[in-house]
Amino acid sequence: MRRQTVLSVRDAGLVYPSGVTALAGVSMEVAAGELVAIVGPSGSGKSTLLNIIGTLDRPSSGAVHIAGRDVATLGDRQLSALRACEIGFVFQQFHLADGLSAVDNVATGLLYAGVPRRQRREHALRALARVGLAHRTEHHPRQLSGGEKQRVAIARALANRPSLVLADEPTGALDTATGHSVLRLLRRLNEEGTTIVLITHDRDIAASLPRQIEIRDGRLVRDDAAPSIRRAAGTAADR
Ligand code: ADP
Repeated sequence: MRRQTVLSVRDAGLVYPSGVTALAGVSMEVAAGELVAIVGPSGSGKSTLLNIIGTLDRPSSGAVHIAGRDVATLGDRQLSALRACEIGFVFQQFHLADGLSAVDNVATGLLYAGVPRRQRREHALRALARVGLAHRTEHHPRQLSGGEKQRVAIARALANRPSLVLADEPTGALDTATGHSVLRLLRRLNEEGTTIVLITHDRDIAASLPRQIEIRDGRLVRDDAAPSIRRAAGTAADR
């Protein structure tokens, strides 16, 4: 039986008001449990695609479904709720609140998902333990290394057990060794069941992941998806 589809993008296009076509005819599907790299050079449309997948931007044409919901049918409040419950974001620059401890940084993310206060702390502590930071829960970002900060950010993304974790150049601000350890962590979390889409310009990182989707000039030029996923996506690029 096919695994559940957590993300479906159908024939998505995006034209910026300036007239730049940043994406055209992009179709892809991600099934529960996958670890997928979206790779392409600077200016290829990765951020634009990330914004569309993350429901931060709406495509000019085509359709996006997250966890079975058609994003186009949702208003801004419903979209915020969908994001809070179904998508965990990890950014290159961590985006932690400097004035909050690690556990509060993680717990605050759960506020928007409507989790009651005590459970927020419990979930946050559990998520920090999963990323190997049980001993750093009361530290503030300035007391943490770059790798530890990214682990806090990953814990925040995981804490609500979202359908999909979207990681935007998660190793981009880290030295090579620390970057590798963050990638190992993401692999382990994936083995434990977390579905992850990672955006990168780094071909080596992309090649180290089980599936690569390559984008150039706003178009998909490669997708290593399993045959069942390729068939479901319909117009996925040929290898
Ligand atoms: P990447 O993340 O791969 O570097 P982007 O998605 O940022 O690529 O950009 C894709 C194309 O869209 C580029 O030509 C870029 O200049 C253009 N672009 C990105 N954001 C905007 C914007 N807000 N307004 C106009 N053009 C944009």
